[in-house]
Amino acid sequence: MAKLTDPVTLLRGVGPTRAKQFQALNIDTLGDLICHFPRGYEDRTRLLQVAQLEVDKPACFRAMVMNTPRTNHIRKGLDLTKVQVADHTGRLNLTFFNSKYAVEHLEYGKEYIFYGCLTGDYSGYGMTNPIFEDVDSVAVTTRRVMPIYPLTAGVSNAVMLKAVRQALAICDPPEEILPEEIRQRYGILGAEEAYRVIHEPDSMEQAEAARKRMIFEEFFVFSAGLSLMRAARAEKRTAPYAQRDLSPFFQRLPFTLTGAQQRAIREITEDLGKGVPMNRLVQGDVGSGKTMVAAAAAYCAAINGCQSALMAPTEILAEQHYASLSSIFAPMGITVALLTGSMTQKEKKAVREALENGEVQIAVGTHALISESTVFRNLGLVITDEQHRFGVGQRSRLSSKGEAPHLLVMSATPIPRTLALLMYGDLDVSILDELPPGRETVDTFLVSESYRPRINAFIRKQVAQGHQCFVVCPAVEENDGLDVKSATVWAETLQKTVFPDLRIALLHGQMKGAEKEAAMAAFARQEADVLVATTVIEVGVDVPNATLMVIEDADRFGLSQLHQLRGRVGRGKSKSYCILTTHNRNPETIQRLKALCKTTDGFQIAEEDLKLRGPGDFFGSRQSGLPAFRMADLSFDLGLLKQAQQASAQWIEEEGTQDTPEANALRSRVAVLFSRAEGTMN
Ligand code: ADP
Ligand code: MG
Repeated sequence: MAKLTDPVTLLRGVGPTRAKQFQALNIDTLGDLICHFPRGYEDRTRLLQVAQLEVDKPACFRAMVMNTPRTNHIRKGLDLTKVQVADHTGRLNLTFFNSKYAVEHLEYGKEYIFYGCLTGDYSGYGMTNPIFEDVDSVAVTTRRVMPIYPLTAGVSNAVMLKAVRQALAICDPPEEILPEEIRQRYGILGAEEAYRVIHEPDSMEQAEAARKRMIFEEFFVFSAGLSLMRAARAEKRTAPYAQRDLSPFFQRLPFTLTGAQQRAIREITEDLGKGVPMNRLVQGDVGSGKTMVAAAAAYCAAINGCQSALMAPTEILAEQHYASLSSIFAPMGITVALLTGSMTQKEKKAVREALENGEVQIAVGTHALISESTVFRNLGLVITDEQHRFGVGQRSRLSSKGEAPHLLVMSATPIPRTLALLMYGDLDVSILDELPPGRETVDTFLVSESYRPRINAFIRKQVAQGHQCFVVCPAVEENDGLDVKSATVWAETLQKTVFPDLRIALLHGQMKGAEKEAAMAAFARQEADVLVATTVIEVGVDVPNATLMVIEDADRFGLSQLHQLRGRVGRGKSKSYCILTTHNRNPETIQRLKALCKTTDGFQIAEEDLKLRGPGDFFGSRQSGLPAFRMADLSFDLGLLKQAQQASAQWIEEEGTQDTPEANALRSRVAVLFSRAEGTMN
């Protein structure tokens, strides 16, 4: 028997060339080959008679060749072979393009099994390029469910199929990691059977059952990993914070905290008193006041003699946090310092020294905070803002600068409960579902192109009142394929032809980091009236003077994303507006966008988005640190995800730490999955 870790070159017919081709599909070993699952199946099990064949419904049939195949050379590179076949119910004309195989193999008077799709109409039916094999051959390409594999140049489906079959013949599939009891309860195939059946199912039902098993397994391993992480953390110890009276901090605030903020802070202080590292996510809509929750946590750390680090995704956000935190803390004798990449070496060195010798209690910064040379004297709490902008690896690197520090993650992306469970299964969650009082909602309108003059007039009016506007475009540059506004071109158009007298600025993702920061900072200083931008402005910069956001071709964005963008306005005292434009007349699209005009509840919008678009948006490029699921398609498999989650949570609790073969296999699988996801285990 061969091993799963043996190279594919062990197989007959697989030499260095083929191995190289397989490598393009990330297939190096027999195990990789066995885990290279079909992306779909073709049901070739239906065996009909010629008279029963229907147009556009592929099927198999048994028929005899009624004449000697005739090949016509049409032109260079095009040979047509025609042959007539029949059974006792009827006759059929077959045509093959450039098929040497058909010419060589089809014999007058012999019977074959064909598989193909009938074409034509009453004026004449026919079939082009059917697949065929001898009646008495083993079913390889006909009379079976045909797996369709993801392929690459040089590797045909037949080659792949053959290789996988060989691998399964000389090598046992991966070992079972799902306990018998769970397989029975959820009707899940065993590993041995599933790995074979997924490649060679007898029926579509069997293929589906095998697919279900693989998805379940994938979710199970992932959920188990999260549970194990949680369990591992519960075993870590840290000194509980004894001082948890935050009233001096509360008294410094210029406002009363919302009920939701108070609740989140209470949950955090309880965590901090437990003697186990906190691992908490604060999820709250834009403007729900997450910064003050973070500040409260940092205050609690400070009065217990511990340092905190608050990491923001951009310099300008870090500066904003620094400004608001130091204005609160400086008068209380708590020192806040800023550390960002653009500071001079000398400035950075001074801050790092102060962190190392403990003169600074709270450090606010960007990636500079996690660089090698930053050393904390006593880092007790790590806070990351706008979590999804950070790789989980970065988060864990910051954590490693202290001894089992508490971790607080803040996210402004409202995530539906089901997905939150998946993405943050290892975190406790506090939700800020309340906005500070007196905040007016952003009035949102959906308009068509005919409103352009009115939109322009409205922009002018806002600017005349001393306010600023955002204009968001879906693309950076003009793109032939797409009929959408590009930020670069639109900014120029607005400046040259529409608002020559206004100051138009540009901000997009292809600009360098420093350029982006500079553009944003200039806008915040009111050095421009209108900022034409792409979605890069989505992440939290506060420009309270901006009262209008125009989103061009709004149908190009996801609802949650639009909501996130809209959160950039309505941050000041003046009434704010959001105008969505679209050329799209699709009723569903219109309905989707109208939903946004009606509600400002981020969670409700996220649920709606999930229903309409599936979770791709949440798991797309905007999120990092999640393992990629090979089989699972989250838009369809959420039900299975819930089952797997239940099953794994229960099982981990009962037997996860046992020394059984299954538990051990599961743990090593978890390790592999999470090492691929780079540091998700913290
Ligand atoms: P988030 O980060 O959740 O989007 P911020 O923390 O930036 O929100 O808060 C948005 C604004 O609301 C800030 O100007 C902040 O000072 C203010 N704020 C926060 N909490 C309250 C409150 N309880 N009452 C009034 N204003 C508040
Ligand atoms: Mg914020």
